[in-house]
Amino acid sequence: MRKKIVAGNWKMNLDYASGVSLFSEIVNMVRDEKNGDQIAIICSPYIHLNSLAKLGGEVVKIGAQNCHQNDNGAFTGEISAGMVKSVGCEYVIIGHSERRQYFAESNELLAQKTVKALENDLTPLFCIGETLDERNNGSYFEVLKTQLEQGVFGLSAADFSKVVIAYEPVWAIGTGLTATSAQAQEVHAYIRKEIAAKYSNEIAEATSILYGGSCNPKNAAELFAQQDIDGGLIGGASLKSRDFVDIVKAFN
Ligand code: 13P
Repeated sequence: MRKKIVAGNWKMNLDYASGVSLFSEIVNMVRDEKNGDQIAIICSPYIHLNSLAKLGGEVVKIGAQNCHQNDNGAFTGEISAGMVKSVGCEYVIIGHSERRQYFAESNELLAQKTVKALENDLTPLFCIGETLDERNNGSYFEVLKTQLEQGVFGLSAADFSKVVIAYEPVWAIGTGLTATSAQAQEVHAYIRKEIAAKYSNEIAEATSILYGGSCNPKNAAELFAQQDIDGGLIGGASLKSRDFVDIVKAFN
């Protein structure tokens, strides 16, 4: 059985007090209402991580949105995977399209970050996704394959088995434009096929593949009902406790 996961990505939102308050609401609601074995995760800005992990990390898991590829050293302003781990984080988003786009993170760099996350016992939520141009010109399968090959397919089978993949079409992020469940399922099935070809059917069947891109309480149930969609990576809707928890419950 694959793990069912709903992860919120708060991005660069919420000051400290607002983040703690929202997380407390989410923890209480998940504790009272969740009915199933799905995993709920909140990936907050770094400044919240320590407090959130202590506030309810056993109910709602904590993730970072990035980490550096080195262990420590003269990298002013950066945070290492070991530091993130040391405050109770269990997950880290790697390769979000916003990091690829605004911080020029290449597949090669993301491969290094993934290795570092795994060395520090963090589960990488590794993001891939095509732009609107790549969707429209039909090159999206090729683009996704390259992101997988250069980003995570260098890992051993044992290490790859610890990775969660998130498919986030760039054209659907924050646009209100969601991939249809058929479009998302088509890509998820393709990703699983590529994992099977690289590793094995067994590993492909065990890999959780999340969908991200304008996922909301209205469309989550239909998306999560698709054979190869194992949950979601949620941006905007994770900033509202009711919406996020309704998405967590969309598996029920
Ligand atoms: P939205 O849910 O706001 O489209 O963002 C998706 C995303 O980027 C999650 O990482």
